[in-house]
Amino acid sequence: MAEGFSREKAVFPFCPGQTAQGISLQYHTRAQTNKCHESIDLVKGMNPYDVAVIGSGPAGLFCAIHAAVPQSRVILFEKNEQPGKKLLLSGTGQCNITHAGEIRDFFTRYGDHGKFVKPALMGFSNTDLIRFFSDRGLAMETEKNGKVFPKSRSAPEVLSLLLGECRTRGVEIRCGEPVIGVEKNADGFLITTGTGAYPARAVVITTGGVSYPKTGSTGDGARLAAALGQPVTALAPALTPVTVRDYPFADLAGISFENIPFSLWHGGKKTGSFSGDILFTHTGLSGPGILDASRYFSAGDTLRVSFAGKIPRDAFERDLAGLLLSQGTRLVRTAMAGLHLPDRLLRKILELSGVLDDLTCAHLTAAQRKEIVTRCTEFPFVIDRLGDFSVAMATRGGIALEYVNQKTMESKIIPGLFFAGEVLDIDGDTGGYNLQAAFSTGYAAAMALRNRLGSPS
Ligand SMILES: Cc1cc2nc3c(=O)[nH]c(=O)nc-3n(C[C@H](O)[C@H](O)[C@H](O)COP(=O)(O)OP(=O)(O)OC[C@H]3O[C@@H](n4cnc5c(N)ncnc54)[C@H](O)[C@@H]3O)c2cc1C
Repeated sequence: MAEGFSREKAVFPFCPGQTAQGISLQYHTRAQTNKCHESIDLVKGMNPYDVAVIGSGPAGLFCAIHAAVPQSRVILFEKNEQPGKKLLLSGTGQCNITHAGEIRDFFTRYGDHGKFVKPALMGFSNTDLIRFFSDRGLAMETEKNGKVFPKSRSAPEVLSLLLGECRTRGVEIRCGEPVIGVEKNADGFLITTGTGAYPARAVVITTGGVSYPKTGSTGDGARLAAALGQPVTALAPALTPVTVRDYPFADLAGISFENIPFSLWHGGKKTGSFSGDILFTHTGLSGPGILDASRYFSAGDTLRVSFAGKIPRDAFERDLAGLLLSQGTRLVRTAMAGLHLPDRLLRKILELSGVLDDLTCAHLTAAQRKEIVTRCTEFPFVIDRLGDFSVAMATRGGIALEYVNQKTMESKIIPGLFFAGEVLDIDGDTGGYNLQAAFSTGYAAAMALRNRLGSPS
């Protein structure tokens, strides 16, 4: 859990065509532009859609489902040939849809941005989400750690249920049709895609973040919004592993530690304390504890990890001194086995502390003992780099929250323009918090749109 952070916010507008952190964005080709201009002529006089949703991830699908009231016309654009590609990957295909427990426990799970999501989470909570699916025949189950999954452990079933709801409610889904421009006009908006142009009274941008770009989330939403004058914050990977400088544990890859404390240091100053599960990889650290805290990390920062668990350094040092004193003729590594560190880790720590295999407790120097204590309770890992967007499970940054109404998800700058899901500057912890935010913000936008369309919620 994070304590005492503040995240710097660089609000900057993208220019159309500008890239977000090296992710290339889509452009009109000349042929597409001509085609669009022809289509714009064709749509003159066309009845506008009430709502156009851009992106068929969980946020877009859920928003479209709930915005589609009888007599309303809702259209949903998806650039891929298939909808919901990232949803299908979620929870390694099993879809960790939300987390159990009190909804108020969610507010601390979105870094500094929990306050923004609060009304959306209160308006459509984890229990509402579980009920939505179970009422439609998809039962959920909760793991011991609080993660909620469909009993069938099938992300395709989650997607199929959402698509079925869209069909039932008459949502027009247009796959393989990337939105390449959104224009504001006196009547609402004009949306141009690779193949057509569509007038709409309201637009909801649900294009996701920039992580796993192969799923279709490539930052288009940030570009479309910025082109309309909506401020966007810098995009960076979140929920991502770290590569460690001079990493000594490559041959221990796969060893994991349950709920251990670690701290973050920047320029010699401690900037945060966390605890969580940590996994050794071939090049550095991963596991839920690292992924969740990664939104605060920068290259060059140091993580100090306590393999001794919650025992404070001085208590560990005292215990170790007592142990060594009482076992003078035994080997250090034999005596230290009583401290319950994984054997391969202990051997490595002793090697790094310059303790030879045949050294007895009586011969251990004070300097060596100090080294061991530091490596067991505050092992320093210097972050070489964070995993990039191809491995990050979420995106930090997005539509700047101060310019979005947190109750309705509507832009405070461009009336009729809404946002939901990961395109917003919201990134949650692992454990179902991101999907819940996508569903809850999608629902909040839909409810606001329904009020506007004059239908009871
Ligand atoms: C490997 C992986 C596993 C994950 N597992 C979990 C999990 O178990 N639980 C959890 O809570 N979270 C999980 N997440 C995070 C979660 O999947 C996302 O936060 C969530 O999908 C965001 O939903 P969204 O609807 O906002 O965006 P997305 O799901 O990213 O959907 C956006 C959609 O918009 C489309 N699109 C983009 N640009 C355009 C355009 N110009 N025109 C038309 N369409 C466009 C994209 O193709 C995409 O289909 C996981 C993420 C990854 C990468």
